[in-house]
Amino acid sequence: MGNPLLNPNHKPMSFREMMLVDDAHDKQLIENCHPSGWVNPTPVGKYNLVVIGAGTAGLVSAAGAAGLGAKVALIERNLMGGDCLNVGCVPSKGVIRAARAVHEARSGKEFGVQFDCKPDIAFSTAMERMRRVRAGISAHDSAERFRKLGVDVFMGSGRFLGPSAVEVDGKRIEFDRAVIATGARAAELPVPGLKEAGYLTNETVFTLTELPRRIAVIGAGPIGCELAQSFARFGSEVYLIEALHGIMPNEDPDASEVVRESMMDRDGVKLLCCGKDLKINKAAAGGKRLAVDSHDNHYDIVVDEILVGGGRKPNLENLGLEAAGVAYTAQGVTVDDRLRTSNSRIYAAGDICSRYKFTHAADAMARIVIANALFFARRRVTDLIIPWCTYTDPEIAHVGYYEKDAKVAGFDVATITQPLSEVDRAILDGEGAGFARVHYDRKTGRILGGTIVARHAGEMIGELTLAMTAKQGMSVLSSTIHSYPTQAEVLRKIGDAYMRTKLTPTVKKVIEKWLAWRR
Ligand SMILES: Cc1cc2nc3c(=O)[nH]c(=O)nc-3n(C[C@H](O)[C@H](O)[C@H](O)COP(=O)(O)OP(=O)(O)OC[C@H]3O[C@@H](n4cnc5c(N)ncnc54)[C@H](O)[C@@H]3O)c2cc1C
Repeated sequence: MGNPLLNPNHKPMSFREMMLVDDAHDKQLIENCHPSGWVNPTPVGKYNLVVIGAGTAGLVSAAGAAGLGAKVALIERNLMGGDCLNVGCVPSKGVIRAARAVHEARSGKEFGVQFDCKPDIAFSTAMERMRRVRAGISAHDSAERFRKLGVDVFMGSGRFLGPSAVEVDGKRIEFDRAVIATGARAAELPVPGLKEAGYLTNETVFTLTELPRRIAVIGAGPIGCELAQSFARFGSEVYLIEALHGIMPNEDPDASEVVRESMMDRDGVKLLCCGKDLKINKAAAGGKRLAVDSHDNHYDIVVDEILVGGGRKPNLENLGLEAAGVAYTAQGVTVDDRLRTSNSRIYAAGDICSRYKFTHAADAMARIVIANALFFARRRVTDLIIPWCTYTDPEIAHVGYYEKDAKVAGFDVATITQPLSEVDRAILDGEGAGFARVHYDRKTGRILGGTIVARHAGEMIGELTLAMTAKQGMSVLSSTIHSYPTQAEVLRKIGDAYMRTKLTPTVKKVIEKWLAWRR
């Protein structure tokens, strides 16, 4: 019997299915990230570091180690750059930007700008721009650039042969240390009829050149929400189907609610949450028929495309983990706080081993791996302060603890929330829906975490992250001077509100007495 954690039938998607192979921009990207004439080097001697997977975690591990003089082999079976460049952050943010342009064109009325005609939305042009921009960025992750950095780049599937050797393209590579950086993929959802009807995932959705008139997005997590909102802005009729209540159930519920309202009321996304008994059938005339119960209503809808936007599964298959003595679970490769696997020569970084499935987290983990694997450092992943952001409009960004988790961790938690409707720049921009919320330890003033929901929350969370990383308390938010008018002033207002909590009746009395004495 096979291992139930691994899918023996899993066939990794090839770049030929993820890119438009006849498109000039995608051709350029493929030439950078999986060059047609690439000849793998012949491995000579033992490598200091072998890296399997050339997504963010793998690229940063390889470049960092080679930069320090290590002999490094980097193995990639598909496209250098991994999910982020090819089918994740980069294309999704390109699409989001275009969808925002559509939204701005439509919503000028408030500012006295009105077009008499309906905006002419060319989805194909927006997607072409995305492919062009992505191809430009791809040079940075290219096989050729890494070769020039001194890395031996192998195109092919990497598999452990034992505790200190890997095979790729029929070649055996011996290593002193290795990093598993094979990432994750869209999970296959057990929805009856889904496979038969056919569906898109993040790996295929960016090949669309025509706007689907009707689209169902399954899963209202970050990926589902970002793309559901974008498709709605381009003009698709969008059904967002979520098994739990509301959207982005892992976020601060008040923040998710602001985005939910915005997506439904302003952008017209139809949310079917608390969805049960989802079933899919092929409909007549080429459509796909979805039946789902949401709250007490039964919905029977026909769409042109289905996008699975929720659920990620680690890429564990065919890695030879047993041969290497590397333990894993359904969540991915098991690592300790120093990112070491059960084989002390082998480390892991990125989506394959972390619940923080973000590019910047993969980057930060790779830096830890270089220090710990090659230089006997003892850096710990739990010391990292990792912010994240979902790039809906408005964005939700978070860092540190949520209130309930901080309480569970034993802190005496106090929270200050400041609405953006009281921040001049947000009012002027017509972006007053949203807030910043910061949790702190009542005894010490230490910042424990915070959530910002605002159009540029992803930029604004950096300030809170910096304060936490520098171990600064709440008072620093008040003493930091912000340019006026900026939406980031919302954090200064929170700092001021915190300082006011220090003005207890006793302190006030002492100050009054002091001032009276001075008169
Ligand atoms: C639609 C979408 C949008 C996203 N947006 C954001 C965002 O805005 N911001 C953000 O921070 N994060 C975002 N993410 C998450 C981000 O893309 C990932 O966290 C990041 O790519 C993880 O990097 P990684 O190196 O761990 O894995 P990956 O990028 O998945 O790279 C793993 C690589 O390993 C290769 N590989 C696998 N097995 C083998 C093998 N046996 N041999 C050789 N090669 C192998 C794969 O082909 C792949 O190239 C998004 C993800 C998606 C899907």
